[in-house]
Amino acid sequence: MKREKVMIMRCDTYDADRIRGIIREGMQTLGVIPRGRVLFKPNVVLAHPELFAYAFTRKEFLDGAIGAARDLGEDIKEIGVGERSGITIPTRYCFKNAGYPEVIKRHKAKVYYFDECRHVPFRLRNPGRLRDLIYVPRQVVETDFLVNLPKFKAHPWTRLTLSLKSYIGLQDDRQRLVDHNTFLEQKIVDLQEVIQPGFIAIDAIEAGQKMMLTPTPFHMGAIVMGTNPCAVDTVCCHMVHVDPRDLVHLRLAAERGYGPMDLAAIDVLGDYPLEEVQEQTRDFQFCLERIDAYFGKGSNLSCTVGVFPEAHSPDYCWGGCPGALQEAMHIFRGFYPDVDKNMKRVRYVVGKVEGPLELEKDERVIFAGDCTSWQGTLNGRVVRIRPSYKGKAEVDTRKTKSNDLLLKTFQSLWKCFRNRNAPYVHARGCPVSVADHVNYLASVAGIKNPNFDSRLLIPVNVAYWKMRLMRFLNRIFS
Ligand code: SF4
Repeated sequence: MKREKVMIMRCDTYDADRIRGIIREGMQTLGVIPRGRVLFKPNVVLAHPELFAYAFTRKEFLDGAIGAARDLGEDIKEIGVGERSGITIPTRYCFKNAGYPEVIKRHKAKVYYFDECRHVPFRLRNPGRLRDLIYVPRQVVETDFLVNLPKFKAHPWTRLTLSLKSYIGLQDDRQRLVDHNTFLEQKIVDLQEVIQPGFIAIDAIEAGQKMMLTPTPFHMGAIVMGTNPCAVDTVCCHMVHVDPRDLVHLRLAAERGYGPMDLAAIDVLGDYPLEEVQEQTRDFQFCLERIDAYFGKGSNLSCTVGVFPEAHSPDYCWGGCPGALQEAMHIFRGFYPDVDKNMKRVRYVVGKVEGPLELEKDERVIFAGDCTSWQGTLNGRVVRIRPSYKGKAEVDTRKTKSNDLLLKTFQSLWKCFRNRNAPYVHARGCPVSVADHVNYLASVAGIKNPNFDSRLLIPVNVAYWKMRLMRFLNRIFS
């Protein structure tokens, strides 16, 4: 097997010119020459200068990367920037908050909000695939050269999000939630078959710890570059003391032949020695904890976790509802630091649970997810929560449901309103998204809903209606 090269370079500040020079050096060292239609894929899962300041690839990084590609590229026909932000959030809202429009304009690049683009079926052939057919934006399939620009972050579902995981941002909501459960790691690997990146540059200048939407910043002062996603992610794992075999999607991707996960098979280059990075990242924090251990102590939220339907992961659902609950609670903590103490008592129940819940007085219950089932008595009333989980074979990627922002918000708030005097509410979905968790928690726990914060409400809704219009026009004209 060819030896892969990965570079770790020092970069202490978000200086676009300096980043451009470093990425240019990386491209030259790795023999990379962008050609044809070049598409840049940053990670902009969520962006806001105050509220979500560390969740996304910074605009200076995008600026530097496009600049380097322009410096070295040959016969470039188009520069494009494309991404799909977190579920239900309009991508154009996040791009604006991230400061991308000025960069895109300066480089005369095209912008592709993947929630507004046409998505096309892509047939998978790898023998280890989860699905036969997945949907991705037409621009991704047609691009000649993909430049992947992930943000270096910890992740509560998958431990880390690097170059492989960043491909989740290719899919729009309709498809993105399919298999976003105990199959998430396999889904990430399926997406790798669509396109191999021509170049990867990871923004590890200010890395993110613990959460993916509300990460705590960690100054790493590095840019990591390579051409093979497995090799790049392997080196990144070592940078923060993670065994690459514990990054499940990396292990699966290596098993499917996408690249190495053994450091001995990779030449690590650059001016920032791996050992020195490791010295600096001793205290880098993750949040890969089960929710029944994570909440409870010092919080009015406690969790009961049952068993899960898939044989490969009966004890826990790492890719679905539990992680979404953690992200939602961290969003609340960002808005209201004392929320854990001030919220009303809530028991969160997920999976197949048997036996009494032994609730505190006035404690209400959120039963979360399609796989959840329980039977018992709440406030003297017999309650039966029936599961509606569909196995992989029962979910058809050609017939998916809308995950429209307004529709989902209305549905969850209406359900909470109808059940306002009941001791419980059942949030359905597989998974129940972070946004839905925010709505259910706000209603049941009596917390002010951040979705109605003035910094979000109007700009998100303006972006939403623009997105709907452009999506409609693109369906007709492209
Ligand atoms: S309903 Fe939620 S917890 Fe259950 S399998 Fe689906 S994503 Fe996982």
